Amino acid sequence: MAIEMRARTGQSDVFSKCYAYTRVDKARAAGLYPYFIPIEGSEGTVVTIGGESKIMLGSNNYLGLTHDPRVLEAAERVARQYGTGCTGSRFLNGTLDLHLKLEHDLAALVRKEAALVFSTGFQVNLGVISTLIGRGDVVVIDKLDHASIVDGCRLAQGETRRFRHNDMSDLARVLNKDADHGVGRMVVVDGIFSMEGDVANLPEIVPLCKQHRARLMVDEAHSVGVMGEHGGGTAEHFGLSDDVDLLMGTFSKSFASLGGFVAGDRTVISFVQHHARSLIFSAAMPPYAVATVQACLDVLKAEPERRARLWKNAEYLKEGIQAMGYETGPCDSPVIPVIIGDEARTFVFWKELLKDGVFTNPVVAPAVPENTARIRTSVMASHTEELLSRALEVFRRVGKRLGMI
Ligand code: PMP
Repeated sequence: MAIEMRARTGQSDVFSKCYAYTRVDKARAAGLYPYFIPIEGSEGTVVTIGGESKIMLGSNNYLGLTHDPRVLEAAERVARQYGTGCTGSRFLNGTLDLHLKLEHDLAALVRKEAALVFSTGFQVNLGVISTLIGRGDVVVIDKLDHASIVDGCRLAQGETRRFRHNDMSDLARVLNKDADHGVGRMVVVDGIFSMEGDVANLPEIVPLCKQHRARLMVDEAHSVGVMGEHGGGTAEHFGLSDDVDLLMGTFSKSFASLGGFVAGDRTVISFVQHHARSLIFSAAMPPYAVATVQACLDVLKAEPERRARLWKNAEYLKEGIQAMGYETGPCDSPVIPVIIGDEARTFVFWKELLKDGVFTNPVVAPAVPENTARIRTSVMASHTEELLSRALEVFRRVGKRLGMI
């Protein structure tokens, strides 16, 4: 109580910022609070919110596998066989034969010698970057890289340098800065950028890295299962699997689960395995989640037409949105942003879309640059054309009602 009193009146308490934080209460009072919305039920492409059905256009379930009977059956069977959790770290009691089989198959998917499974993709980026970028080393990142990459850099003992988003002359400028100083360097980029939906310019990044003797790591969170002939990600898509040193991916999107992995040369993966604190000091990915990913991998191999359907849906939604006059930026993936600019207008737009039956994600700074607030939409292979055209109709109706198109 004494602390609460002091927090309300003084500055000398760590909680004072919490009591002064009114943004959320104000947004709630205005009926415009768009986060932590409880979903009461889901069939994948349609979810229930407040007792009403909404078309889901805000999920990363790209291949639509969260409700696939084969995936559900695998998760259930393995939970009965191995229990509900590993109750310990991979390092000690938490490694299952299932983890090793999954690592073997993931390495094959992305054409690398070895892979290592973590409990989340966020932990992969934290662990890998902080392990490899030691004192005196430099990590070079795109300004729009994911938060987990930024936090991995913060944890690392070396220096971080940034280049303008997908701007190759700026990357060259940054790489030239440390040329001939004998420092170890690694460039880290998203394969598909999560809030823009555009693709890293790997055909130019790879030669730049080679020229400057920098290692290259690609975050394939949104691209594994989505891009490349076999779903291996942007590296496979560009035919550059051998030229990218490390690839990471997550299971929270195409793989319909939770967890992540890094893949690369066996020696490097072994080093990460024995040094990454986010792996060693955190409990292992649970058995049913491993089984889910394994089942998704099998579907990915057996049904390439799923990826084709995903891309067809992405084109259909993008063309529909652009044809109405909305600004999407240079997206080229199942992530299609509708850029509004102003935050308040974005929240109003989001609310009206939801009211009319479409769930989307409003994204504002600092997740995107100031004045580029947007509605982030994403499609799944399992959306029917009928559902997508209903969603487009809602975009048209709401856009007209608000004077946006
Ligand atoms: N990288 C990128 C580009 C992401 O979008 C995400 C998840 N939003 C992550 C990493 C972290 O993955 P996870 O959800 O498995 O923690």
